[in-house]
Amino acid sequence: MTFQNVRHKSPHLTALAAMHLQGLRRRDFVAGAALIDGRWIAGEQRDVVIDPATGEEVADVARCGAPDMDLAIAAAERSFSAWRELLPAKRGELLRAWASLIREHSEELAILVTVEQGKPLAEARYEIGYGAGFLDWFAAEGERTYGETIPSHKPASLLHVRKQPIGVAAAITPWNFPVAMITRKAGAALAAGCPIIVKPAPETPLSALALARLAEEAGLPPGVFQVLVGDPVALSTPLLHDTRVRALSFTGSTQVGRLLLGGAAQTVKKVSLELGGHAPFLVFDDVDVDRAVTGAIAAKFATSGQDCLAANRIYVQRGVYGTFVERFASEMARLKVGHGLEPATDIGPMTKLSVANKCRAHIDDAAAKGARVISSKQEEILGPNFVPPTLLCDVTDTMLIAREETFGPVAAVLPFDTEDEVLARANASEMGLAAYVYTDSLRRALRLSENIEYGMVGINTASFTGPPIPFGGWKQSGLGREGSRHGIDEFMELKFVCFGDL
Ligand code: NAD
Repeated sequence: MTFQNVRHKSPHLTALAAMHLQGLRRRDFVAGAALIDGRWIAGEQRDVVIDPATGEEVADVARCGAPDMDLAIAAAERSFSAWRELLPAKRGELLRAWASLIREHSEELAILVTVEQGKPLAEARYEIGYGAGFLDWFAAEGERTYGETIPSHKPASLLHVRKQPIGVAAAITPWNFPVAMITRKAGAALAAGCPIIVKPAPETPLSALALARLAEEAGLPPGVFQVLVGDPVALSTPLLHDTRVRALSFTGSTQVGRLLLGGAAQTVKKVSLELGGHAPFLVFDDVDVDRAVTGAIAAKFATSGQDCLAANRIYVQRGVYGTFVERFASEMARLKVGHGLEPATDIGPMTKLSVANKCRAHIDDAAAKGARVISSKQEEILGPNFVPPTLLCDVTDTMLIAREETFGPVAAVLPFDTEDEVLARANASEMGLAAYVYTDSLRRALRLSENIEYGMVGINTASFTGPPIPFGGWKQSGLGREGSRHGIDEFMELKFVCFGDL
């Protein structure tokens, strides 16, 4: 597919983004200063922030380097003992105050997210509420980090297990959920009693720095929550090598996850990883097709497809295949592509050109190998980061899209015949994050929920994320869990104590 009609710099859209940014009451949200040890650092060097819809520069931010990270690690270490000694209820109070401020500034934060990430404003608003929810959740979980007493295997002794904060934590976060991926990690770490240093994605620093402003206003002490933006390797190297950093939580590509896991091995840190997905979405012929189409559209096109939970392989049983494809195509045709700040927009730009190019490569590969391509014709508003919603029919297991994560609004539909066959095909992936099953058979739903090799499974639903769920994957989709009562354990150590001679 050749990319036609490139109009990267649209004066109308550029003005729209500028108007929204200039209208922000909180000018400090776009000052682009990093937060290190309670001080706002403007930096001698600055990096630009680009609106992915227009390719225009919208702001600039401090470029921090390794010496800044060293200062941040030292500040975090200094803050640790006072922070861990605060009563969990007091830490919870501060987290709730932070969540309230985030909700109070929801509109301004949503604008930042849309301008730097590209997602439609309605989705950005949703993300702010979703992100604040993790702070409230962990404010409460911090009070429930119970230990245990073990029936003793020795006479006259008491066996006791405590959970204690692990120490300084670091988070390296992605650009697809630039607010929620920070609060999901920071909420857990802070509630556990750990200071945390955040290195956000260079594409989306503004929302991270605005979160830091609000954290400070909520009363989080200096050094407890710090945000440094800059070159990923320069900033992550000290985090990996420093023995004072005891936990690392990362969300992003499997490729970078592997690198970080290897790097953290030198100092044997506790590592949690939320990596790529390649979600299978199974539609059986006993199900109401419209319901399955609604689910598949949501699971494919949320966040313009840039979601690790996105349905990458939609397997449809042959009896309903034709109907499914027809209805999916007609629902897809309603999706409006545009700048996220335009109210009618359903699908924004890809945040990174590389992601848009990967989508185009998957479409080209599938077309060359015989897939039928149905694409909505919205070229007139496109720039190079835009990918129109596209449906690839009759996809086979050898096509790239059936093997690699697409991370964009390209839906691949594959026919299947039997449950055993589709289960084997669904499991034939090195990824194991999320899977979806649409069926009206309770027995089948139970069988598949037992046998499918994924960390999260939606049965007759495409939407299940939120603070109470253990978010995480099997295989090369990651290690550990975020959210839920398990998320806080990524930032805690167990201590066993044996009282003898009682
Ligand atoms: P990425 O893994 O490169 O970026 C994620 C984070 O890692 C960012 O903060 C980035 O600055 C940092 N990073 C990158 N290289 C690093 C390095 N060498 N050392 C330390 N930190 C590093 O992801 P990407 O290239 O922006 O996106 C590529 C693909 O990754 C996407 O197409 C998608 O498949 C996947 N991805 C997944 C998620 C998710 O939610 N699981 C999020 C973003 C991207």
